[in-house]
Amino acid sequence: MNTELTKKVLNELTASLGSKKVFFDSDILEKYSRDETADISYIPDILVRAHNRDDVSSVLNICTKYKYPVVPRGAGSGVTGGALPVQGGVVLSMELMNRIIEIDAENMVAVVEPGAITGEIQKEALHKGLMYPPDPASLDICSIGGNVAENAGGPRAVKYGTTGNYILGLEVVLPDGPVINTGGKTVKNATGYNLTGIILGSEGTLAVITKIYLKLIPAPAVTKDLLIPFETIEDAIDAVYLILKSRIMPATLEFMEAGAIRLVSKFLNRDIPFPDAGAHLLIQVNGETEDIVFNQLEIISRVVNVDTEKIIAAESEMQRDRIWRARRSIREAIHNEDPVFLAEDCVVPRSFIPEFIKDLKSYFASEELVSVIFGHAGDGNVHIDVLKGNRKYEEWKSFQPALKREIYRRAIALGGTITGEHGIGFIRRDYLSMALSSEEIAIMKRIKRAFDPNMILNPGKIFF
Ligand SMILES: Cc1cc2nc3c(=O)[nH]c(=O)nc-3n(C[C@H](O)[C@H](O)[C@H](O)COP(=O)(O)OP(=O)(O)OC[C@H]3O[C@@H](n4cnc5c(N)ncnc54)[C@H](O)[C@@H]3O)c2cc1C
Repeated sequence: MNTELTKKVLNELTASLGSKKVFFDSDILEKYSRDETADISYIPDILVRAHNRDDVSSVLNICTKYKYPVVPRGAGSGVTGGALPVQGGVVLSMELMNRIIEIDAENMVAVVEPGAITGEIQKEALHKGLMYPPDPASLDICSIGGNVAENAGGPRAVKYGTTGNYILGLEVVLPDGPVINTGGKTVKNATGYNLTGIILGSEGTLAVITKIYLKLIPAPAVTKDLLIPFETIEDAIDAVYLILKSRIMPATLEFMEAGAIRLVSKFLNRDIPFPDAGAHLLIQVNGETEDIVFNQLEIISRVVNVDTEKIIAAESEMQRDRIWRARRSIREAIHNEDPVFLAEDCVVPRSFIPEFIKDLKSYFASEELVSVIFGHAGDGNVHIDVLKGNRKYEEWKSFQPALKREIYRRAIALGGTITGEHGIGFIRRDYLSMALSSEEIAIMKRIKRAFDPNMILNPGKIFF
């Protein structure tokens, strides 16, 4: 950014917030120049760590005055560059606004600050016999504010839905400083436009979220996990169809293809059961009683057409952690293998997963690309990671647009879209028009201008 302007903004922020909340030391700024997106970084000009809502309002008021970019940031676990200051400016970190203000068991509502870690909210709710179901695989590191801004999903979406299904209301600060509430502790709300729904998934481009009201549900008393090997990915996805057809609704239905199993085994330096399988399904079922859950397990074992001796049921918390650790480590395992990789999360109607994967694999083979495919078989969300491998870096970079287009084109042709849970952010903005019509993009841009007439909030994301 322009240095004179930056100096003015810095002086005014420091005068308003004090020097303990405003940072411009290059070592600190450098730490905020990346999120979990492979291979990109943008250094902020200024970092502010907000302690409360008034700090957020002050930052937005000052930046509005100077028409200076502000990029909200949660825990920085995003994988589409959403929290990176691609046009410079202030990174507004919400990491210290991390209180779980209240678990209101009577109304089954959690009131939290945006920086609260999702996994911590789940644990607090569980202490009161309640469940906050959305469970991004990053739940131990990501913040709930980032989950709302991305409408994050996770393995349990097949049964429980995504973050958006659990937001009763938000307190947000608008880009020019005023604070609004979009709901509260009520389960229903038909008062005017659904502003919660508009802010949900807006990726920090419309408003800064400062408080969140989350719906909780009773925690199931019994949970069991199964790991089932299959000869081919087609067999695994057929089994998903058979399970759902038998009127069972597992809490998770995750698949990992052979490549994912191999990399995780190498990364964790331990054997994964049935390492030669073409694919694994990781299934979780839950319910009110042992009998209900046992009944579901029995039906699943019957319909999947796999030798029952090969079905591993996690009996203890330790066994459960062991099989879930493998699933949750896939991204790290890929990064460990090759830090430069493309990570896509297309979604297709779930019955098309085998066709989608087959189509992708034959395209990747024709380009001599190494890929790892895994994801949420139950809801059609397929994670496609393509490794740079032996290609020269420059060649890999220049190949990216064509590679992305080929992947997106195949998902769209099957009635799917370009992202199921990770969002558009920075790295997919040039491809939005593949998935949305010009009219659809135009109405989104009008909403953006209505919230943020000065266009200061997270510029360069989604479509600008
Ligand atoms: C190993 C791994 C596994 C993952 N698994 C999943 C998964 O299963 N499902 C899934 O959906 N995602 C997953 N992700 C992606 C990521 O964790 C999610 O997108 C998460 O929601 C980001 O939260 P965050 O707090 O880290 O947000 P950040 O990365 O800090 O920010 C993400 C976006 O939210 C905006 N934002 C953050 N806080 C606020 C706020 N208070 N107000 C307004 N805007 C805000 C930012 O501007 C940015 O656009 C995974 C990531 C990793 C590294």
